[in-house]
Amino acid sequence: MSRTASCLCGGVKVEMRGDPIMKNLCHCTSCQKSFGAAFGSLAAYTVEQVTFTESEPSVLKTYTDRSPESGDVLNRSFCGKCGSPVRVQTGKRPDVLVVPVGIIDGDKADFKPELEFYCRGRVDWVDPIENTKAFETMPPTYPATD
Ligand SMILES: [Zn+2]
Ligand SMILES: [Zn+2]
Repeated sequence: MSRTASCLCGGVKVEMRGDPIMKNLCHCTSCQKSFGAAFGSLAAYTVEQVTFTESEPSVLKTYTDRSPESGDVLNRSFCGKCGSPVRVQTGKRPDVLVVPVGIIDGDKADFKPELEFYCRGRVDWVDPIENTKAFETMPPTYPATD
């Protein structure tokens, strides 16, 4: 099934084809800062599944995040006009694109997380999501499937 996503101003549009290869929350400090939220809610796809389109002139900007607790470098892309985070790509797995669930258009019921990363950073008023597999830091393999 094909789904779409867009930033707050609509300058960046995304089409995702097929199911995500991974759905997770991330409680790391870097995601908290970047998403301006208590945690990141994320859907990962292969590069082939996702198409980004942007208005002219180009509004898509990328911040190279060298702070992640995983030691990886993350390319965090956002809309330069409205500031919405629209994509995360890890240095170690450039073949995987991560879309923040909050920018997905319409119903988000299909994007319930299966995994939670960096639970050591979970804020104490956020309970574990039912039926998720929780990791103190990262799972041993990325992307993890269960
Ligand atoms: Zn925008
Ligand atoms: Zn994170």
